[in-house]
Amino acid sequence: MKIDVLTLFPEMFSGVFGSSILKKAVEKEAASYNVVNFREFSNDKHKTVDDYPYGGGAGMVLKPQPIFDAVDHLKKDSKANPRIILLCPQGETYTQKKAEELAKEDHLIFICGHYEGYDERIRENLVSDEISIGDYVLTGGELGAMVVIDSVVRLLPGVLGNEDSPIYDSFSSGLLEHPHYTRPADFRGMKVPEVLLSGNHQKINEWRENESLKRTKSRRPDLLEEYLREKNKKVDHLD
Ligand code: SAM
Repeated sequence: MKIDVLTLFPEMFSGVFGSSILKKAVEKEAASYNVVNFREFSNDKHKTVDDYPYGGGAGMVLKPQPIFDAVDHLKKDSKANPRIILLCPQGETYTQKKAEELAKEDHLIFICGHYEGYDERIRENLVSDEISIGDYVLTGGELGAMVVIDSVVRLLPGVLGNEDSPIYDSFSSGLLEHPHYTRPADFRGMKVPEVLLSGNHQKINEWRENESLKRTKSRRPDLLEEYLREKNKKVDHLD
């Protein structure tokens, strides 16, 4: 997967793209990253990227020209028809389902905003998706782009080893994941549930499924409701 990021702060990405699974994905040739400062595409002599809002008001607005030209440039080199993703608190709230959808693409272009926001013509005529990472306001779109990229890249085939398979993660099945324990079996008197020490894999799987349902019921009843609607199941035995 080819990933382009348009930002005014390219230096923010070096730590994230150069570490852990995102770095491994490049080594395994599953992903490549290209971080571009869209200021380079500004066609005025001072390389400005923002301007005062028409009608007055606080803050500066990102101009359309540098961002349209940067995207045109990136699209010229693309064999695929890229998804063009605007990070934006007014976008659709990001979910695992969206990560799974984006992981099927060959080329993603992320646009990270700053200041008061974007010229509306970017939103209306350039982008395919507007994504918010939650109901709060960040200084810029960079952290949002990192969140989306991390969650997408770990789903690409071959990026995670079998033991870390994303199909067992929270949300992938529609539920939160069951609790985990490791050695020692008794830590300061806090004991690991007996069933996990039993070696009985059927019992362990039943325990995990039940814990997953219980945990989702208490922490995210909205998810459980959706899961049950899809599965058409009853969980009376959880009470
Ligand atoms: N004035 C804008 C509004 O009220 O909708 C907020 C602008 S914010 C200070 C600057 C930039 O940060 C946005 O253009 C966007 O790229 C990014 N941003 C802020 N909050 C975000 C969120 N929840 N999800 C994704 N991106 C966000």
